[in-house]
Amino acid sequence: MERKWVMCPVCHNKTRLQLREDTVINNLMLYCPKCRQEKLINVKEFRVEVIG
Ligand SMILES: [Zn+2]
Repeated sequence: MERKWVMCPVCHNKTRLQLREDTVINNLMLYCPKCRQEKLINVKEFRVEVIG
C-alpha cells in the first residue's frame, strides 16, 4: 500500500503524519513541528483539505 507524508499547509515542510492511500481523516488538528502552527484538516485519497 502506498504511503505519503502530510506536508504542512503553511510552510510546506514534512509533518510527522503519514497517510496510506485508504486513510480518511475528518477534523484533525495537524500540528507542524517546523512552524509550530496548528491547522484543522480533512484527508481523503491523499488530498489534504485545510478547513481552519
Ligand atoms: Zn509548518
